[in-house]
Amino acid sequence: MIGSIQMKSHARVVVIGGGVIGCSILYYLAKNGWTDVVLIERMDLTAGTTWHAAGNVSLADGNRAVNQFNVLAYKLYREMENETGEHLGWTRTGSILIAKTNDLLERYASRTESARAVGIDYHMIGPDEIKKLHPLMELDGILGAAYVPDEGVLDPSMTTHAFARASRAKGAEIYRHTKVTGLTEQLNGEWKVGTDKGDIITEYVVIAAGFWSPVVARMAGAHIPIVPTERQYLVTDEVPELRQLDRKVPMLRDFAVPFYVRQERNGLLIGVHEPHTPYCFLDGIPDDFGQELFPVDLERGAHSLESAMARVPALGRVGIKTEICGPTSRTPDLQGLIGPIPGLRNVHISAGFANGISQAAALGHVAAEWLIEGSPSVDVSMLYASRFGCYANKRFIRAMLSEAHVFGTVDLSGERLAGRPARASALYDRLKAKGAHFSAQLGWETPMWFSRGNARSNGVEEARAEALDVRKSVGILDLTALAKYEVSGPAASTFLDRLCARRLPAVGSIVSTPMLNERGQVMCFTTIARVEPNRFYLTAAPQAELHHYSWMNEQLPRDGSVQLENVTGRYGALLLSGPRAREVLAKVSEAKLSNDDFPWLTVADIDIAFGRARALRFNMVGELGWELHHPLEYQIGIYEALAAAGEEFQIVDFGFKAYDTLRLEAGWPIWGADFNTSQTATSAGLSRFVDPSKEGFIGRRAILDTARPVPYRLVHISFDLDGSPPEIGDLLFDGNDVVGFVHSSTYGPSVGSGIAFASVKDDLVRGGKTINCLVRGNRLPVSILERTPHDPESLRVSS
Ligand SMILES: Cc1cc2nc3c(=O)[nH]c(=O)nc-3n(C[C@H](O)[C@H](O)[C@H](O)COP(=O)(O)OP(=O)(O)OC[C@H]3O[C@@H](n4cnc5c(N)ncnc54)[C@H](O)[C@@H]3O)c2cc1C
Repeated sequence: MIGSIQMKSHARVVVIGGGVIGCSILYYLAKNGWTDVVLIERMDLTAGTTWHAAGNVSLADGNRAVNQFNVLAYKLYREMENETGEHLGWTRTGSILIAKTNDLLERYASRTESARAVGIDYHMIGPDEIKKLHPLMELDGILGAAYVPDEGVLDPSMTTHAFARASRAKGAEIYRHTKVTGLTEQLNGEWKVGTDKGDIITEYVVIAAGFWSPVVARMAGAHIPIVPTERQYLVTDEVPELRQLDRKVPMLRDFAVPFYVRQERNGLLIGVHEPHTPYCFLDGIPDDFGQELFPVDLERGAHSLESAMARVPALGRVGIKTEICGPTSRTPDLQGLIGPIPGLRNVHISAGFANGISQAAALGHVAAEWLIEGSPSVDVSMLYASRFGCYANKRFIRAMLSEAHVFGTVDLSGERLAGRPARASALYDRLKAKGAHFSAQLGWETPMWFSRGNARSNGVEEARAEALDVRKSVGILDLTALAKYEVSGPAASTFLDRLCARRLPAVGSIVSTPMLNERGQVMCFTTIARVEPNRFYLTAAPQAELHHYSWMNEQLPRDGSVQLENVTGRYGALLLSGPRAREVLAKVSEAKLSNDDFPWLTVADIDIAFGRARALRFNMVGELGWELHHPLEYQIGIYEALAAAGEEFQIVDFGFKAYDTLRLEAGWPIWGADFNTSQTATSAGLSRFVDPSKEGFIGRRAILDTARPVPYRLVHISFDLDGSPPEIGDLLFDGNDVVGFVHSSTYGPSVGSGIAFASVKDDLVRGGKTINCLVRGNRLPVSILERTPHDPESLRVSS
């Protein structure tokens, strides 16, 4: 018994953690009809990080998907207040983001259209208006600011308790002062959640235990890349000038220092930035840690504090009323983690958020949708828990955070150098010595481009030259980062048949196919080589490795009739491609390689040099070629033999930048870059990979339902390019209306134009209208392509 509540022995979902996020998840599960759900909290609700959060609500973050997510949270909060009559302590204050350099001013201004496209009121203001909005502020050095009138503050405690009350009203149960002590998977796939008050058997577990989440996940044998850190802010005594105003002053943010200052009652709250991440609980979180705070260390944030005082001099004239320094959690890229935990079935996570108060409603909504519907309907790919592997240990997180940390305000778009190398192929040193510039994809060092003597280059020219060389003769790419899986066992073909939206290949053949969920959303996109009647070799985009594994693993029959193995780290892969590829391969292999013996979309295990490889006559670059998959021990031998054999054909090493260019010219979208689980096969432009006449695959019903609206559709576009191509998220316009946005893009040297994949409103796709892309302030006319501009008849790949 807990108080007067008898703890259930069974529940459909157990949510672990009674912070704002756990309570929100509980609410959205119950609201959407799953009322047999419980929440377990080791202390009181809000006892973790939530009770001491500042409660600031952000909308405009620069990134389209994050903006959209913030807007969703904002709408859901308003909806919840209306539906339940609960008060969340919401105050709309607006916020001002100041710029002291032209560079920053332009950067903020460039976010205007993308913020407005998702419904955020965002505009630039000059010093006069800033002063009008915030009379306490000094304008010294300020050139202007971005102003977001709808940002404000929520009361973290009121919000959490509102979710809890509304959940209970819908039938959910909450057990406080109950600590989860064990998570054990049962033979039938259910989970036993052990607590200090008894056990509960459940279908699904959601870990929402804040900075304790790694501790809880470890109970189920999983690793979660979160470390606990400290975060601090101060609240001043009453500021007399504020009392005289008949409104609240907007939040003031200076990301260049950074700091923020906002009104708290009639005082001011200062968010203090620290130049080094203040870790806590280095030896683990003490079992008896309760709601304690840490001593505030103002030295650590001196620069931030002094800058705030110079900007708002009133801060220096009043005393400090409250000092908060509390534990919170950090992930390697400062974005939280959401969704299934790779390797575990039916265990999800929602933790590690820097703005958990601001986003909790959307996080709860998405977590509930994921369980009830099979995946979220909004793009949360930037939050997938599957975006890090086991390499993302404490040391890795610390290395990443030493580059950029604290408020989540630092621009992380550039190449990260910390935490590397984590995963590397056997060729890493060799390729480095040949001038390779690497980038990390799910920890793998992947060659991006090879230096051609210009030490100051950013690789654009080199990648174009590499792409042209591949089209002209032959190139070799280290594709080891590709995700690779083996599926085998007596029921392997039945299993894959149910998952794949296309007929499985015959033995010795290959197909590329999406795997859908019941709503027709693209859970995976893989290339499947059938090597025996019940043995398949699957590949997918590098960043999909753990995501796809997780999805397939969840669908596995529980009787052991199918084995799924993630063999990414076991096999290397080299792509040998270009019109002379056959001649090169023939010099190092006895295998029969003619088009009759080894046609396009077939697979065979062949000898190469002194090793053996699984050769897939398949590639996405639109040329004759083979992907050569091999145990890593053979990699150097195979690579050296191919490189030597290719010398007479001027073989080139090429990197992923050139690969991207080539596959964009050849019309291959890829999972992660051009589409993800938030899209259906139709909206992801994958209809050509789906066979609706095939019966029995997951998602077929949704695919056949032509009445379902397809708001956006992925299209292949081209445009004249004078300068660099558009960036991810750049907007497409029909007149002044936003009608789409760009995914991946490049200049295609073989087709002589800019080329990209973009999501465009469906009526425009069919309407044949001229649309424009906004690229760094200029509007470029864009054509929607009916056929791929490179090798439209697939003559080169099948030559
Ligand atoms: C100083 C500071 C200022 C902040 N300011 C803002 C802000 O202005 N705006 C914003 O949006 N966000 C802010 N944040 C971040 C925000 O507080 C967090 O994102 C949010 O509170 C996280 O909520 P949560 O539910 O994930 O975690 P928590 O609130 O930590 O909840 C996790 C719960 O899990 C429970 N638990 C742990 N282990 C177990 C177990 N074994 N069994 C049962 N229960 C368990 C804990 O007791 C705890 O109650 C701030 C954070 C800090 C530290």
